[in-house]
Amino acid sequence: MTLSKGGCQCGAVRFEVKGPLGKASVCHCRMCQKAFGNVFAPLVSIPEGALKWTKAEPRRFQSSNLVQRGFCPECGTPLTYEAPDGLAVAIGAFDHPERIEPEIQFGIEGRIPWMDHVNDWPVRETLDDIEAAPFLDKLESYQYPDEV
Ligand SMILES: [Zn+2]
Repeated sequence: MTLSKGGCQCGAVRFEVKGPLGKASVCHCRMCQKAFGNVFAPLVSIPEGALKWTKAEPRRFQSSNLVQRGFCPECGTPLTYEAPDGLAVAIGAFDHPERIEPEIQFGIEGRIPWMDHVNDWPVRETLDDIEAAPFLDKLESYQYPDEV
């Protein structure tokens, strides 16, 4: 059986999902933008009972009468969208987000117009900027490592 693992940036909150994940999406609505501090929210739905918190549980913010948003109480990483019809987890929090490809966009009334231009921008790898940001040379990550 497949096991997908993930957690927050500091590692205080970790989770495992047993079996196949549900449908993956991005949501552009204004509530998801705020909850993620971002311009859209990549989320994957989790079949009932498949997710286990293996360390601390997330803290939750009640963002509406129907929905709670889970996040790490230590580092603030956004982790969940919890609605009456089920639970979804932030794709970026998984140890292997590249394996979870969204197949639909929701909340497009909130879609930021410049999203259409992302592929037109110049691209760089982190260490391509070493001259502009020499501190990167001394960077030590305190981020919890991804598991294989
Ligand atoms: Zn954390």
